[in-house]
Amino acid sequence: MEIKSLPVIDKKNYQYEASRCLACYDPPCVEACPASVPIPRFIRALNSGNIDYAADLVRGVNPMISICGEVCPAEDYCMDACTRNALDKPVEIRRLHKFATDYGAVPNEEIPYETNLDKRVAIVGGGPAGLTCAAFLWKSGVGVTVYEIAKNLGGVPSNEIPEFRLAADKMEADVGAIRKLGIEWKLGENIEHPSALLKDYDAVFLSTGLPEGKGLNIPGEGNERVYSALEFLRKAKHSPDGIYVGDKVVVIGGGNVSLDVASTAHRLGAEEVHLVYRRGVKEIKIWESELREAMNAGVIIHYLCFPKEFIIENNELKGLRCGRNELSDELDSSNRRKPIPLDDSYDFLLPCDTAIVSIGLKSESITDRFVPENIKEYKSKEKGIFIGGDLITGEGTVVEAVRQGKEAAGVIVEYLKGGKW
Ligand SMILES: Cc1cc2nc3c(=O)[nH]c(=O)nc-3n(C[C@H](O)[C@H](O)[C@H](O)COP(=O)(O)OP(=O)(O)OC[C@H]3O[C@@H](n4cnc5c(N)ncnc54)[C@H](O)[C@@H]3O)c2cc1C
Ligand code: SF4
Repeated sequence: MEIKSLPVIDKKNYQYEASRCLACYDPPCVEACPASVPIPRFIRALNSGNIDYAADLVRGVNPMISICGEVCPAEDYCMDACTRNALDKPVEIRRLHKFATDYGAVPNEEIPYETNLDKRVAIVGGGPAGLTCAAFLWKSGVGVTVYEIAKNLGGVPSNEIPEFRLAADKMEADVGAIRKLGIEWKLGENIEHPSALLKDYDAVFLSTGLPEGKGLNIPGEGNERVYSALEFLRKAKHSPDGIYVGDKVVVIGGGNVSLDVASTAHRLGAEEVHLVYRRGVKEIKIWESELREAMNAGVIIHYLCFPKEFIIENNELKGLRCGRNELSDELDSSNRRKPIPLDDSYDFLLPCDTAIVSIGLKSESITDRFVPENIKEYKSKEKGIFIGGDLITGEGTVVEAVRQGKEAAGVIVEYLKGGKW
């Protein structure tokens, strides 16, 4: 089944789409956008043909303007809340956001709001949360240094979101704009002991994301043809020639990341891509954009199945033995029906040349040391160290990381001005 791409919004039709906005008095879309983009205002600017001002309005609250224009799951945020849902269909807010980003002018220079704070903050992690926090701290007149373990900035959008969904030039547009600010960059620096930074800085913001994949803990997982999702996506993005997928690929998991993995495997040449998911069709939580790409790639989804064992012969991956589940009437903590394994007689084999495990992400050592059970105002377990982004929310979104980076910057400025811990 082919799911058609959405029609493009271009210079010929953007004002028509902008004119569909009802300019609600108390706009629910703004409430639903984690970055609080002033949606009716920027759409009004577009409607009157002022594209530069529209882009300024979005950029002013969301420095990841270009990334969000491409990959923000607006169907769960602004567009889900659009008043026009009750009349016909929502205004295409994300595509108008993207149009403003693509055609609006980029400012040459930004000036900090105030420069008399005389304080320094270290940011650990240069992903969307860290970069947003860095930009807003710098604009408040704070000296900022960003420490990033990778050689490039941008976190997951730079290194793992596939190029076919987020092109390098879109990524560079946002990172490049932040690089122009007067921030100090320390790339290739692995910060293992963030507390030590408090000797040289007045505060630290930890936004190291979720860099580790959860494991299945089943026989054969250590084989070299069994990848973790992040490792696979990173290799596919930065060194695709060095990765062999073969004809048949099995992906284990059922979220957006798994669909990115499955579509990437297809683009790398796999003829058959199978996705093994433990729950049913109603329980799968995926974004429309991800599903569109995966369906067009012909990904075969096996619902109500789970992995039991990778079959390895002479050190070569031959397949995955799967069991089958049924759904109980009981709900689990995610409010979805619990999968219950059926007996071994229902097992089946999925032959494969490569397998990718994509059952979730974690960051054990940082979480254990710094993340308290109840987080208040982005404060970690240690005074002076603030935390935010996926590290505290679990697998989130770029725009949610933006919200956190921005709010955390506000809390940190208050702390630097002598506020209580
Ligand atoms: C495959 C995939 C696809 C996704 N697709 C979408 C999408 O389409 N739309 C969307 O909105 N969201 C998407 N997301 C989610 C989104 O990318 C994340 O929610 C967002 O990147 C979180 O930002 P962050 O800054 O908290 O963490 P990250 O982006 O993970 O950034 C953390 C940074 O910290 C660095 N770091 C880690 N440890 C250290 C250390 N010890 N020292 C120094 N630096 C360190 C890392 O290298 C990284 O650069 C996707 C996620 C994945 C994995
Ligand atoms: S950032 Fe996302 S949620 Fe906010 S207006 Fe843009 S598309 Fe909508």
